[in-house]
Amino acid sequence: MSAQSKRQPAPPTPLAKELRERIARDGPISVHDYMETCLADRRAGYYATRQPIGREGDFVTAPEISQMFGEMIGLWLVERWERIGSPDPVILVELGPGRGTTAVGLDWFLLNLFVLALLFVPVERVIPRLPEQPIFRPGWTTDLMHFAMSHLMVQVTVVLTMLPAALFFRWATQPWLQDAVAAQPLPVQFVAIVLVADFTQYWVHRAFHRVPWLWRLHAVHHSSQTLDWLAGSRLHLIDIVVTRGLSFVPLYVLGFAAPAIYAYLVFVSFLAVFIHANVRADLRALDWVLVTPRFHHWHHGAHPEAVDKNFAVHLPWIDRLFGTAYLPSGRWPEAYGIAGHPVPEGYWRQLAWPFRR
Ligand SMILES: [Zn+2]
Ligand SMILES: [Zn+2]
Repeated sequence: MSAQSKRQPAPPTPLAKELRERIARDGPISVHDYMETCLADRRAGYYATRQPIGREGDFVTAPEISQMFGEMIGLWLVERWERIGSPDPVILVELGPGRGTTAVGLDWFLLNLFVLALLFVPVERVIPRLPEQPIFRPGWTTDLMHFAMSHLMVQVTVVLTMLPAALFFRWATQPWLQDAVAAQPLPVQFVAIVLVADFTQYWVHRAFHRVPWLWRLHAVHHSSQTLDWLAGSRLHLIDIVVTRGLSFVPLYVLGFAAPAIYAYLVFVSFLAVFIHANVRADLRALDWVLVTPRFHHWHHGAHPEAVDKNFAVHLPWIDRLFGTAYLPSGRWPEAYGIAGHPVPEGYWRQLAWPFRR
């Protein structure tokens, strides 16, 4: 008897049963209907029932991954469009089983810019740290470009952030530990994520200040001489990917649930903008609980006593614990940036600068 005839057929999945019944009832169906049912059926479709990230995340086939290819297709589309004489209007239709994520980068950028500007520009007017500082201060175009690029490439950076953990640290995962962590109430998981992520981030950030070639990358972030809600976006792409990638490793290994990680991402993107803002928020009660603008402004302070201080970006007491905290009561730095201002202005120049001799 051959192996072929011995093999038992797998029992049909509910979706297969449903498809068979449908074909028996209504006759043959088109490939389009078949694909749509398999991938997008609300109850059993592949993309409707799988998470792109998290423990049960299915990375490889997630549309978020295809985004990397989507970006290349986007560039190709622009080139084609220009070749046919840049017609206006033009209709872009994204075909296929995805969730329409090709356009998400652009939407994400515009939505975020709109929401953050709407939120922070008035606050910076009402309680400014430096009232005379204009919205369109020197360097704002460079920072807007950083903001745009990091948002347009959001899926690429998210994937680059999570892929190393999944590729290199799968061996470190323990199902019993991940089950125990994921079973905790979401608020508990959220607080734990903030703690674990900032603890890792603290040491990665310190390394970026200590190791000379890493400092050249991170110096881009410190080149701002004016701080406001947009200035925090000034980060070298490698800085973003390395810092986030390493901070993500323990979150991946511990196996936090996807909703808790999503909540953390929202919190982080808001706090990162807030701590750079030109806002005189005297949150004294918070001073040693949560990083405030004054705490992080000292990290950017052009003062000898503030150099290599305040590495934490969520929990200031981590700096206290490791002896790197600097927060003179009630005072703000007089100036920001790096002595001698070695980093040039402009997005592309800043991207290339760390590699220049
Ligand atoms: Zn720094
Ligand atoms: Zn900063």
